[in-house]
Amino acid sequence: MLTGVHFILSYMCNFECDHCFLYCSPRSKGTFTINQVKDVLKELQKIGSVSEVCFEGGEPFLFHPLLLECIRLANNKGFKTAIETNTYWATTEEDAELWLRPLRDSGLSMLEVSDDTFHHGEEVANSAKRAFSAAQKIGMNVNSICINKPMIENNKELVKGKPIYTGGPKLRGRAAEKLTKGLPGSPWENFTECPFEDLRHPKRVHIDPFGNVHLCQGLSIGNMWETKLSDLVNNYDPDAHPIIGPLLRGGSAQLAREHSTVHDHEYIDACHMCTDICLKLIDKFPEYIAPRQVYGLE
Ligand code: SF4
Ligand code: SF4
Repeated sequence: MLTGVHFILSYMCNFECDHCFLYCSPRSKGTFTINQVKDVLKELQKIGSVSEVCFEGGEPFLFHPLLLECIRLANNKGFKTAIETNTYWATTEEDAELWLRPLRDSGLSMLEVSDDTFHHGEEVANSAKRAFSAAQKIGMNVNSICINKPMIENNKELVKGKPIYTGGPKLRGRAAEKLTKGLPGSPWENFTECPFEDLRHPKRVHIDPFGNVHLCQGLSIGNMWETKLSDLVNNYDPDAHPIIGPLLRGGSAQLAREHSTVHDHEYIDACHMCTDICLKLIDKFPEYIAPRQVYGLE
């Protein structure tokens, strides 16, 4: 049952992280308008089971007035609300309070701050710490999100003694291009399931300003500007989906098999392979593998 919807409020971000699975940058196109947000909130009320909405990006604080109105509207409709941010705006704790107080007063339920070396390097007293502290000081709920550093571990089960990549960022979007060099691979046939997403019974989806309804970054169940979001959700048939069906039947390996896609002999993990196969199928299934910019194509 769908309980959460994450708005990719904008693909634009003032950062351009190597690990970004949405390939965001200051040049990225695509930002929700307030009327689009209102339309989506109405659809969420129709679906009935959704209780939480999160606004993220890209960097949602780049559109602070829009963000504020989104929180106010969602809160008035009875949704719990969250925001994920890279905290670039927290120049000092005192300044951070200026950005946060209006959000608190609009009813924001939770602020999530990205605090890890991928976003802030080795800087200890970083903007995430300042944002966290300012939020606590003015009585807001705040949480730190930390992406663990990847590890290369000995793999005893799949290929005896061979090292594998575990932890770390999902190898999707820019991460699949920038973070994979030199990492150890495993035979492609080993990737027989999707390790991270509940593709059959999704509890949350990400939606973007182009209308895509993502189950995973760049993997959509359809376009909500063409078919109502409530219809897309209520009529979702995972087994009939040309990408999700094969992933459920046998992971990235099955996806390549069913579409007879040319593939490498080895991949670093299931997401690395899945991204490569999606990239090769993007022109065949533009409705489901979208938008192209998440694959670094525009
Ligand atoms: S990972 Fe986050 S902060 Fe970094 S470019 Fe992507 S959206 Fe921006
Ligand atoms: S296997 Fe594919 S669908 Fe599953 S989490 Fe990885 S990239 Fe996403």
